Amino acid sequence: MKKSTLSTSEEKVLKGIGVSPGIIIGKAAPLERQRTTFIPRRVTVDQVISEVKRFEAAIEKSKGELEEVKQRIVEKGFRQHSYILDVHLKLMEDRMLRDETIKMIKERLVNTEWALKATLDKIAEAFDAIEDEYLKERKEDIKHVVERILRNLIGGELRAIEDLKENMIVVAHDLSPADTIQLNLQRVIGFVTDIGGKTSHTAIVSRSLEIPAVVGLEDITTYVRGGETIIVDGTEGVVIVDPSLATINSYHIKQQHYRYLERELLKYSPLKAETQDGYHLTLQANIELIEEVPAVIQYGAEGIGLYRTEYLYLNRKTLPDEEEHFQVYRRLAEEIAPYPATIRTLDLGGDKFASHLELAEEMNPAMGLRAIRFCLMEPDIFKAQLRGILRASIYGKVKILLPMISGVEELREVKAILEDVKDELRTRGIAFDPEIPLGVMIEIPSAVITADILAREADFFSIGTNDLIQYSLAIDRVNEHVSYLYEPLHPAIVRNIKRVVDVAHEEGIEVGICGEMAADPLYTLIFLGLELDELSMHPIAIPRVKKVLRQSTRTEGDGILRKVLEFSTARETEQFIREKMAERFPEDFIQCTE
Ligand code: PEP
Ligand code: MG
Repeated sequence: MKKSTLSTSEEKVLKGIGVSPGIIIGKAAPLERQRTTFIPRRVTVDQVISEVKRFEAAIEKSKGELEEVKQRIVEKGFRQHSYILDVHLKLMEDRMLRDETIKMIKERLVNTEWALKATLDKIAEAFDAIEDEYLKERKEDIKHVVERILRNLIGGELRAIEDLKENMIVVAHDLSPADTIQLNLQRVIGFVTDIGGKTSHTAIVSRSLEIPAVVGLEDITTYVRGGETIIVDGTEGVVIVDPSLATINSYHIKQQHYRYLERELLKYSPLKAETQDGYHLTLQANIELIEEVPAVIQYGAEGIGLYRTEYLYLNRKTLPDEEEHFQVYRRLAEEIAPYPATIRTLDLGGDKFASHLELAEEMNPAMGLRAIRFCLMEPDIFKAQLRGILRASIYGKVKILLPMISGVEELREVKAILEDVKDELRTRGIAFDPEIPLGVMIEIPSAVITADILAREADFFSIGTNDLIQYSLAIDRVNEHVSYLYEPLHPAIVRNIKRVVDVAHEEGIEVGICGEMAADPLYTLIFLGLELDELSMHPIAIPRVKKVLRQSTRTEGDGILRKVLEFSTARETEQFIREKMAERFPEDFIQCTE
């Protein structure tokens, strides 16, 4: 997927995934995380109790350590990052991890370390089957948690990684959230790692600290011994080890330019998302955790366009109950008010990830029993979530969004269930918004084709371009071998979006995009021409899109769309739009050289 190394003289150029934008030039500080090794040992029946006690003591000690780190970061003023540690603390209490390990000690008569490692392998295997990238990466969280417990079991020392004396770029194979946060963050000016993706913790933390970061470099740790100069270009996903003087100079210029642009961009956060001729395009945020809400507000989003609730179901033996759903959604609704919170119902094959349900593995999970199909198959699980959402609906403006709807029958089935749930709440005397909007994600080609039918029965549409591209072009969105075919500007995609917008408007409902495409300012004028009502994206992307919007007119968008619709290939469209945007916004878009 990545891995391109083109080097001049002594410098080494590595290509990875840029997860936090910006350019930094500095000295490398490699952090080797200690490997925890242990000796697997059989125990006698008499020793079982003491093994279990050792395990519990190690968990308590690990929790204490995390609490301490959490306290420290709060003191340092990095409170917003402590949620990562909360996730780890929660995982320490995960029943699956605990109960399975204890069961294994008792039944197999093995020492705690061995049992814990075997449990980890089992959980990791389940995670490997997950296709959602964000959720897949949560496996790393469990690994980090287990590693910490193991260290405490073995009595190993945690390596002190706090004392970076000067400003350094941290180079690591991988960083656990606790490692990241224990660093003297005031001294960290960049992150680069061998592994990780756009939603790994290094990515999340670096984005919110606004430190350039590139992950997924595969083997950067083998090129860095410590102290050498490296350049991190988090915008382009490039890292250069031992750059030449000429390269350093050119990156200095790029860096100054980039910093200037960033400062300029932030000015757009509080401004209206409006064109010069007064057309308002609502810019909202996509979130996975409600702790992201302060950033959402800071970047000037007008609400949450997509809250991916999958996270609530993970790493646990019991499912979240109505009360838990309610508490989370209520907090979200209150914090984002007066703007809306669009809560997407469970979008994963819960069977594969919630450990208490063991359904068969599927040949093709992307097209399997997932999302709304799973919810309709398991109405009790679905109803608990719907009850939670309904109850939260009186604390703000709450909307329900249904993933992976393939046709109107599924929507009708959901409506019937929703009515049942409303009746139940009425009987219990619980208040809710009876008019709560029910929206449909348009991300399957059949939903595009039947969008006119769906539009008559849905309250709004949200186009999930990540999946729509995957299913329209038959390209597995996580398969790097076909990633060259993943073309957002393919005429099929542009036409699909156009059709959905047109029929939605004919039926008088609003339509937005919440896939990754929405975040790319390169497409903003096309979306303007398409007359989308909303774009929902990761919060940090909002000011950039807003800037394009505020410096354009509706008429301009129309003209661009007309041209785009004439092209026969994604390549032509891309070339056109790149040239156009570079001409219109020379400081934001690089001129095409092709
Ligand atoms: C999409 O498919 O575009 C989308 C927003 O949902 P997800 O990425 O969670 O599948
Ligand atoms: Mg999707």
